[in-house]
Amino acid sequence: MKDIIIVGGGLTGMLTARYLHDAGANVMLIDQNELGRESSWAGNGVISPLHPWRSSAETLALMHKTQQHYADLCAELQDETRIDPQLTTSGLLSLDTAEACDSAENWLTEQCDADDKSSMNGSILRGNAAIKACEPVLQSQHEQAVFLPDIQQVRNPFLVQAVAASLRQRPMTISEHQPVTKIRSKKNRVTGVRLNGKKFKADKVILATGAHSDVFAELKPVTKGQSLIKEDIILFRGEPGVLNHIVVQGDYYLIPRKDGRILCGTTRAVKHKDKQPDAAVFNELCEFACGLVPSLQDMPIRNHWAGLYARNASHAPSVGAHAEIKGLYLNTGHGEDGMATGLASVQQLVADVLA
Ligand SMILES: Cc1cc2nc3c(=O)[nH]c(=O)nc-3n(C[C@H](O)[C@H](O)[C@H](O)COP(=O)(O)OP(=O)(O)OC[C@H]3O[C@@H](n4cnc5c(N)ncnc54)[C@H](O)[C@@H]3O)c2cc1C
Repeated sequence: MKDIIIVGGGLTGMLTARYLHDAGANVMLIDQNELGRESSWAGNGVISPLHPWRSSAETLALMHKTQQHYADLCAELQDETRIDPQLTTSGLLSLDTAEACDSAENWLTEQCDADDKSSMNGSILRGNAAIKACEPVLQSQHEQAVFLPDIQQVRNPFLVQAVAASLRQRPMTISEHQPVTKIRSKKNRVTGVRLNGKKFKADKVILATGAHSDVFAELKPVTKGQSLIKEDIILFRGEPGVLNHIVVQGDYYLIPRKDGRILCGTTRAVKHKDKQPDAAVFNELCEFACGLVPSLQDMPIRNHWAGLYARNASHAPSVGAHAEIKGLYLNTGHGEDGMATGLASVQQLVADVLA
């Protein structure tokens, strides 16, 4: 009998397991795959939405809290596991229309007026010279851009490997490569899960199943309003210093990693159930990337992959106790912002679970 079973070993489920174990709970973590190989592996790792001024108040509140704790988390993980999640302050430059820059500017002013620690630094760059001074490699002409210098990113695969390694150092039960097929409950109280034809008992069950949450009937009220979105990414094997900041233009983005790799993707919402990379999107991404930074034409493309995420209609995640079944908790629907909102959502849920 476990105190708590966590279903889903992405970043959300793994961090939940880590906090609960360290708070003294007897935890079992279950994933149908290897830990951390789904959305949490595939993503870009930017610790902010790419257009934060368009985000919901709930998402921004979670993002601000997450941003405050990432440095400590990454330092602890590196200390425990010797794996560096590569938390880097790369800043974000959004090449945008005058109208979009106006709403970003209003949002930045409101943030400063709010006068709390959580406000985000930023400014509007006007004229091509100012934009080129910020990011010299850009070739095209731009009239205005939003610049957020403090935006950070992590290298997703390294982060999830570090969290998984830190869990394996703890005496907890981890089950991989088997799906939970059923949540077990009696008289509206959770009693455990069914895994590989066997019953596992627990006082509490937490579902952190990302884009696969719709298999559980208990989550229907949440998942029926969710969209499953596929996002493709290509990876250029660049040299360090080619691109200094995350650059966003419309639905497309470039993200420079510390070692010179550059990710290129699109946030254009494609509703999809599989994560097969799309050849047409590959060509579209190459065209965007090489149009903005022509030197990328000479750099090899090392990889093309796609990931899935579930986005709630409210554009804010579902975090907390199930409305009807006592002892059942959920943390899902983070959409494209789960790196930015995940850590704070986990801290919030862990406090609820332990209360
Ligand atoms: C291409 C892409 C780019 C992104 N970029 C960013 C970004 O820059 N910034 C940002 O903030 N966010 C970004 N995201 C979103 C972010 O990565 C996700 O929101 C976040 O990783 C979700 O984490 P999770 O743990 O909730 O889900 P996941 O990582 O998907 O984990 C869910 C886990 O549950 C397991 N599971 C599911 N069903 C079962 C079952 N029945 N039994 C057992 N296990 C089960 C799965 O195997 C999986 O490991 C991006 C996502 C993608 C795909």
